[in-house]
Amino acid sequence: MPQRKSSKVSQPRPTKETSAKPIARCGLCGKTKNLTKTECCGNWICDDEHNYQLFSYARNSCNRNHRRYTLCGYHFNEGQGGDWKDCLKCRDSFETEMYVSYGTNEFNFEALPDPPTYEPTKCADCGKVIALGTDGHSVLGDEYRCDHCTAKRMQEGR
Ligand SMILES: [Zn+2]
Ligand SMILES: [Zn+2]
Ligand SMILES: [Zn+2]
Ligand SMILES: [Zn+2]
Repeated sequence: MPQRKSSKVSQPRPTKETSAKPIARCGLCGKTKNLTKTECCGNWICDDEHNYQLFSYARNSCNRNHRRYTLCGYHFNEGQGGDWKDCLKCRDSFETEMYVSYGTNEFNFEALPDPPTYEPTKCADCGKVIALGTDGHSVLGDEYRCDHCTAKRMQEGR
């Protein structure tokens, strides 16, 4: 009678995954569903770009907001090396005010340390301070105009 080798090889039992894993959350809004990691900085973020409607200009996509409206996303898209926080190319690519806005707005995981100071931008017509990062405005040469004055000019056909 041939000797039968025991076919039973003792295998180490798969260890059960610990359920104490930290829950991934979108670093911007805190949601825990449908997350993906940002290509630029590897943070968890909502995988919500498909919610974005073309030409709606809605800023309702965490993923898109981070990519389009932060230095981190810009820096990555431009393929510049190193850390966006001390990247001189980024610094040169924007008006100081936009640079600060893109580096410190709510779409950032990490705010720009020591943002440079800048003179507030004022409307050439009414003198109102325009926050370039958030307020609607138009630019003509080196003159900025608030939405209100832009509309007025359009109506007057100037
Ligand atoms: Zn989110
Ligand atoms: Zn990023
Ligand atoms: Zn850069
Ligand atoms: Zn104005």
